[in-house]
Amino acid sequence: MTTEELRASLLAAPKNGYTRLKEGQREEMESYCRDYRAFMDACKTEREATAWAVAEAEKRGFKPFTPGMDAKPGDKIYYNNRDKAIALAVVGTEPLSRGANICAAHVDSPRMDVKPNPLYEDTEIAYLKTHYYGGIKKYQWPTVPMAIHGVVCRRDGSRVTVTIGEDPSDPIVMVTDLLVHLSADQMQKTAAQVIAGEQLNVLLGTEPLEGEGSDLVKLNMMKLLNEKYGLIESDFLSAELTIVPAGPCREVGLDRSLLGAYGHDDRVCAFAELYSLFAIENPAKTAVCILADKEEIGSVGISGMQSHYFEHFMGTLCDAQGVKLEDCFAASFCLSADVSNAYDPNFPETCDLRNNSKLNYGISICKYTGSRGKGGCSDASAEAMSHIRTTFERNDVIWQIATLGKVDQGGGGTVAAYMANRNIVTVDAGVPVLSMHAPMELVSKLDCYETMLGCKAIYLA
Ligand code: MN
Ligand code: MN
Repeated sequence: MTTEELRASLLAAPKNGYTRLKEGQREEMESYCRDYRAFMDACKTEREATAWAVAEAEKRGFKPFTPGMDAKPGDKIYYNNRDKAIALAVVGTEPLSRGANICAAHVDSPRMDVKPNPLYEDTEIAYLKTHYYGGIKKYQWPTVPMAIHGVVCRRDGSRVTVTIGEDPSDPIVMVTDLLVHLSADQMQKTAAQVIAGEQLNVLLGTEPLEGEGSDLVKLNMMKLLNEKYGLIESDFLSAELTIVPAGPCREVGLDRSLLGAYGHDDRVCAFAELYSLFAIENPAKTAVCILADKEEIGSVGISGMQSHYFEHFMGTLCDAQGVKLEDCFAASFCLSADVSNAYDPNFPETCDLRNNSKLNYGISICKYTGSRGKGGCSDASAEAMSHIRTTFERNDVIWQIATLGKVDQGGGGTVAAYMANRNIVTVDAGVPVLSMHAPMELVSKLDCYETMLGCKAIYLA
């Protein structure tokens, strides 16, 4: 063999995904991304994503989970976990003893949650106190248009959905920052201290009601909330209100090759899972799609991936087929569909480029996350990596490898460890993201599309 032949046959030579798209895939990619943008505009919280998934699933014949229900081949079932997380299944022709093919993403994103006793007035300006949720660079969140999303359970027990700041005719809210002219002291602080957690106070309004006494601006805000939503101040205690960046998902770049939005992490993978699940009929193995909550704070709680609700769902399907849940888990495969860090040429010192995902190179497979010496990660085995790689290659899915930055630079985790702890073979893979956890994150359309194809290939593996 010549050197060139040896090079071609022995060495890996990754190519930009745009050179590898097949006939017709450009149009499919654009069409998929239009649907994704509509999903992102409708869903900025785990509740909104869950409600969207329930509505779309019902349109496609999915039936709500009931204890003791049947699970026959072709059945489509969803488990709505308290309106905050959802698991959906298309029952396979093979029994669950042969395992399920699972894709698991999360639908919560970093944000500012409204405190239980949030509303106050200071120097005739009304504010909401917040507590940030998930890992954020606090300095990124002031001076950005923000919206209020969530639900409030009123004193009479009734629940009302709140959305302020998304309709173009709505007002927005925001957190202020100090003018540069007076920032001599602030500019000396480290980035972690530039904006303190207790400074993430959301400006609500400034017009006082007519009359005597204190807190006339605060009272006006409460009056407006009462008129629109029937709220009284103590209702904040039984509420989940959250402050998220306002506005739609936008195309980015002169070539429109990127999408900018709040919360691609991890709704970009959640949508890929759902879209591909809705496209399959009669899979051999049961296909399971999970949209989990609370990943950004450790997958804890009743709606997080550590919750026993997943056993309740899968256990019921197994019972219907006379299969032990443990046997099903032991034979299952899980794609932990979560985002990776796309290489950012502005910060080359933070990554090992040889092992980092890049924009437009497709779905990125991540053998391990964690921090320091892989601490806290689910380190996928050679065999598990082989399964996902060969599945992608058989189905012409454009894929690449990912690691989370340079060794000892930082780290992170996903739901992978919690799936693997259940004795389910699990591998992380997902969409590379720029500016992860910032108010606006960036992904490439090509990577979004390939991730959807990757999820579909796993369901059908
Ligand atoms: Mn994530
Ligand atoms: Mn995250």
